[in-house]
Amino acid sequence: MKNIYAIGVGLIGGSLAIDIKKNNPDAIIHGISRKDGTLEKALELNIIDKKATLDDLENADLVIISIPVDATVKLLPTVLDKISDDTLVVDAGSTKVDICKAVEDHPRRRNFLAMHPIAGTEHSGPTAALEGLFVGKTNIVCEVEKTTFKLQEKALKLFSDIGMRIRYMNPEAHDKHIAYVSHLSHISSFMLGKTVIEKEKNERDIFDMAGSGFASTVRLAKSSPEMWTPIFKQNKTNVIETLEEYINNLTQFKDLMKKDDFDAIFSEMENTNYIKEILKGIS
Ligand code: NAP
Repeated sequence: MKNIYAIGVGLIGGSLAIDIKKNNPDAIIHGISRKDGTLEKALELNIIDKKATLDDLENADLVIISIPVDATVKLLPTVLDKISDDTLVVDAGSTKVDICKAVEDHPRRRNFLAMHPIAGTEHSGPTAALEGLFVGKTNIVCEVEKTTFKLQEKALKLFSDIGMRIRYMNPEAHDKHIAYVSHLSHISSFMLGKTVIEKEKNERDIFDMAGSGFASTVRLAKSSPEMWTPIFKQNKTNVIETLEEYINNLTQFKDLMKKDDFDAIFSEMENTNYIKEILKGIS
């Protein structure tokens, strides 16, 4: 893997570039982005070695696409048009159904591997890129059988070298399950933030009284709307289903409060403490 092209050099693209370069010091990381300023920042931070454009992709051994999922759906077919027969293309998008569909009939479908690294923070852009972000994390790989075997092997080595374990899933199952554990968590955090901001107009009071519980619960509300709006749009049906279940639970909790049924509230919380067992080992 000599010529590696990172399309998108933000949190995910930048972090992948840093770790892959560390494991492959002879590789040249070429950066592609919408804004020149973003590439300049990535150069300054040593995330990339060179700036590039889509027209350079025929030289690529590996192309990593880490841009918002709506932009990925639009750009992926063009990327596949421009690569060579031996190039591996991967994407890091947080939804998988629309991305896989966008290239299902592309003559170079076998050069593409659809993945979703389950790692991240609430920060974005090249300054958010972190070394070691993916160590011990899971990489969900979809429709692996549609990628040529030789390129699958290359990809799996690349990702195991940066510390990731692989889980295989079909795109529909991925989008359904991720709606619960990731997409709903973000909506819940955004709406908690909104509720508190609307009620507490005086920001100083929020700041003074915000304990670590509030800070950790509302952390995801700092995430980028540019990245999240297309995710909710692409995964609308699953996200609405999770929201209905969540709203039912909130309503039920409110009803128990109104009825002064604190024994039931106690047992709701006690049952939900089981989350400790489920999340064991996730920091
Ligand atoms: P990010 O930090 O905001 O970086 C995305 C970069 O994409 C931006 O720096 C932006 O650069 C560039 N970009 C936006 N639209 C573009 C376009 N049309 N063409 C080329 N570049 C474009 O976002 P991220 O967190 O790395 O997310 C990237 C992808 O990874 C998304 O698909 C997301 O769903 C997925 N993902 C995110 C996380 C997470 O926790 N954040 C985790 C796993 C997967 P410019 O400044 O040049 O516009």
